[in-house]
Amino acid sequence: MTFDDLAAQVRGRVLLPGDDGFTASSKPFNERYASVVPMAVLSAACAEDVVTAMTWARENDVPLVARGGGHSYAGTSVNTGLVLDLRGLCDVQVDPSSGLVTVGGGTRMRALYEALRPHDIAFPLGNSDEVAIGGLTLGGGVAAVSRAFGLTCDSLVSTDVVLADGSVVSCSASENLDLFWACRGGGGGNFGVNTSFTFLARPVVDSATCLLLWEWEHAVDVLLVAQEVQRTAPDALSLRIGLTSDRMVSVIGWHLGSADELRTLLAPLSRTRPFRCDIADRTYWEAVEYVHHETAGGAFAGRTRTTSVPLPEEGVRTLVTAVDKWPGSSNPDGGGAALFGWGGAMNAIGATETAFPHRDALFLVSLDTSWMSSDSPQVVRDNLEWLTALHEDIGEHTDNASYLNFTDPDLPDWRQAYHGQNLARLAEVKRRYDPDRFFEFSQAI
Ligand SMILES: Cc1cc2nc3c(=O)[nH]c(=O)nc-3n(C[C@H](O)[C@H](O)[C@H](O)COP(=O)(O)OP(=O)(O)OC[C@H]3O[C@@H](n4cnc5c(N)ncnc54)[C@H](O)[C@@H]3O)c2cc1C
Repeated sequence: MTFDDLAAQVRGRVLLPGDDGFTASSKPFNERYASVVPMAVLSAACAEDVVTAMTWARENDVPLVARGGGHSYAGTSVNTGLVLDLRGLCDVQVDPSSGLVTVGGGTRMRALYEALRPHDIAFPLGNSDEVAIGGLTLGGGVAAVSRAFGLTCDSLVSTDVVLADGSVVSCSASENLDLFWACRGGGGGNFGVNTSFTFLARPVVDSATCLLLWEWEHAVDVLLVAQEVQRTAPDALSLRIGLTSDRMVSVIGWHLGSADELRTLLAPLSRTRPFRCDIADRTYWEAVEYVHHETAGGAFAGRTRTTSVPLPEEGVRTLVTAVDKWPGSSNPDGGGAALFGWGGAMNAIGATETAFPHRDALFLVSLDTSWMSSDSPQVVRDNLEWLTALHEDIGEHTDNASYLNFTDPDLPDWRQAYHGQNLARLAEVKRRYDPDRFFEFSQAI
């Protein structure tokens, strides 16, 4: 077996350690997994390369993993065999008359937003430039507009998949229904490699955004009131209510309406006077930029739960106390807890209609921590122990349900938490489309 052999059969490039572009096309975004280095990368140039790579990897008994944007929290898009870099599959075809948008399986958010913008149509997408459409959609995909327009996978109309045996199938509401069901929230890397996705986009809506910040002493009050604001708000409003280890309390929001409406909706929050309050009308595209997420990178871990009701005061105090005791590291992102407003259109679809099971949540409770590779093993241990303890403590007030795309390699009972009542059907789909478990990783179906 040689990689020259593979290189001779494909249009894309085969890269070996030391080659230009090898690191950029294989390095996991989360530096927690920086030590995992593949034998080779194939940067696919077309869907046929994906078929060839799959056949070659099987024949040569080399483990293969697909990589989109490499943003898996758990480094699931890198292995020690062959990484199939999909970023070259980035063609975006927009049909403005039907609203259908066909996207290559490795297209990243920035390029996708740029392609949609001239047509003033959109569907729910992620808030980070380099996250790719494959991982996002296959795990569900949540955007600040999801309470109004659903998950990314709820806009999916069809997708082409290269299966482990090298065959290519299309799936949609009229063909390969079970695979189409699984591709809407069952998780990337499980059933095949999706080389393209077709979505139904809708006209964009003029919007308003907000950013409110408070000093730490107001944390409990703000969280209690902000949860009520979100619970009683129309689906047009989505808030992210955050606590950070630099002792800051924040509410950032996107409203598919005017700034005047948004001010009225947020009025209960002005009782605890924020030290910063920016509320403004935005075009849809300006709002995309406003909620855009920047991170310092480094190494990180996240753990989630959901809740269908606002956290009670005791639960809020659990979060505030824990974030105040974050153990520290040299990563400027620090640690924290956030309540993402879920529900609305996300919950208008039944829990078993797609593989994404969390159709009854009001909030995603997201806990996270970060460190740098240069931090000592003790710092890393302290941070992970902090995360585990907080997840356990907040369990008293939340459901045992976790968001698959905020993947957590250490999550206990991950099958149930990620997949809920859809687990058995996902296992059936896995047996049918990947009977030999060619696609294998620690949290594979
Ligand atoms: C900075 C940051 C911002 C984020 N923002 C959001 C957000 O706004 N909303 C949200 O819901 N999530 C968000 N996430 C989580 C994100 O959705 C997941 O990490 C997602 O899996 C990343 O997709 P990717 O293709 O970039 O990742 P990768 O690491 O490349 O892939 C993730 C998994 O999917 C598989 N995969 C990727 N592409 C394909 C494909 N075409 N076919 C089959 N399998 C594939 C991989 O093998 C791997 O198992 C964010 C994550 C980060 C780190």
